[in-house]
Amino acid sequence: MAYRNEGKIILTSKKLTDISLLPIVKKECRPLYFKYRNFEYVETSRGCPVKCPYCVESRLFSRVRFKPATNVLEEMQFHHGHKKKRITFVDSNFSLSENHVKNICELIKKEDIDFKTIFVQMHVDYTTLEMLKTMKNKGFYLSFGIESLSEDVLRNINKTSNPANYIKKCIRLLKFCKKLNLPVQSNYIVPLPGIKVYKIIKEIKLLQKISTVALSFLTPYPGTPLWEKYKDEIKNFDLNTFDCEHVILRNGMKDEVLRYIIRSSYSKWHLKNLIKVFKLFVP
Ligand code: SF4
Repeated sequence: MAYRNEGKIILTSKKLTDISLLPIVKKECRPLYFKYRNFEYVETSRGCPVKCPYCVESRLFSRVRFKPATNVLEEMQFHHGHKKKRITFVDSNFSLSENHVKNICELIKKEDIDFKTIFVQMHVDYTTLEMLKTMKNKGFYLSFGIESLSEDVLRNINKTSNPANYIKKCIRLLKFCKKLNLPVQSNYIVPLPGIKVYKIIKEIKLLQKISTVALSFLTPYPGTPLWEKYKDEIKNFDLNTFDCEHVILRNGMKDEVLRYIIRSSYSKWHLKNLIKVFKLFVP
């Protein structure tokens, strides 16, 4: 366990195995601006068994742990009481356990908690149609880490054990979300190794027909297999730029090509959907 005290980072030998023991961070311990923002973060689980080579989650947390739904509810009620309108569940993969999702949804319904948005990150392989039905009408905004719709690329990044099935399921899930009126976002990484520019644009356009699309630039975080593979190709080691919004790799695609992808993917779509997205995130 590690914590900061008077500016110093203190490392202890204690291991925190039960995350339900973590207290709600009281407002006196937070910077002042936290008081004025209208959203908050809640962690309902920690860890992910999928080992995508670009992701730090499984390297930081070796096993998956869940918080009891009652603890999650208590935390949500706390923030609701402090007039927060939006919650982000910071879990890297909220869809890991159908029971966990069901228990939280039941408590949200029973206690009638109404957040304007509850943002969650999901994985296609773990999400079921039943899970989506349970999440309907509770304020959820789903974000799927889809990353690519090309079988070879998905195989390279270890996103799934069955790429062909993953792609079909991905389209089915996004269409089902649309039918249920569940807001949904597809996350797509550019440029993943082995993909051609025309394919990137084609895949993004397909996803845009059935969801909002968010693009991220491939970012090799220290400690990940991607870092080992590409550490000699990094343009800039300033970790402040490791936010998936900066082009970090030298040998990826040229900046002009990436700009072209963004322009051709977003121009028309963006105008059409900007107001829709704006309404979801602004009070
Ligand atoms: S599925 Fe998501 S959280 Fe899990 S390792 Fe891959 S990117 Fe990370």
